Amino acid sequence: MRSKRSFIDYSLDKRATLIALFRGATDACDADPYLLRAAKFHGERADRNCPVCKKDELVELRYTYGDQLGQFQGRIKTIAELMQMELEFGEFRVYLVEVCKSCHWNHLVHSFTLGDGKERKPPRKQKTIEDEDYR
Ligand SMILES: [Zn+2]
Repeated sequence: MRSKRSFIDYSLDKRATLIALFRGATDACDADPYLLRAAKFHGERADRNCPVCKKDELVELRYTYGDQLGQFQGRIKTIAELMQMELEFGEFRVYLVEVCKSCHWNHLVHSFTLGDGKERKPPRKQKTIEDEDYR
């Protein structure tokens, strides 16, 4: 992704959560049903195993946020879709969350900004399959 900028790494926070988890001080393996469903249908396999249960059930979800995305913000996008979106939008932010489908560990990994930097109006509201779902 060529326009990647304003990168924030949350690995220190993740390490702290893992240490607390291994001490029994917290329950971080608490992915809610919505997140687990998203992981099942939209998760892209991570190139590493779960830091908690060590199984290869770890997937990544990339959530997109930004005013220019309009009604489409908050959607999960694949790497291929993000590479297309960075050419179509001026600025939006990507939050990468890792979720283990086995033990339900979940944590924010990093976030970054994408886009070509040009100001754009959000796309016009249009009816989508998702809108139909909520009726
Ligand atoms: Zn796990």
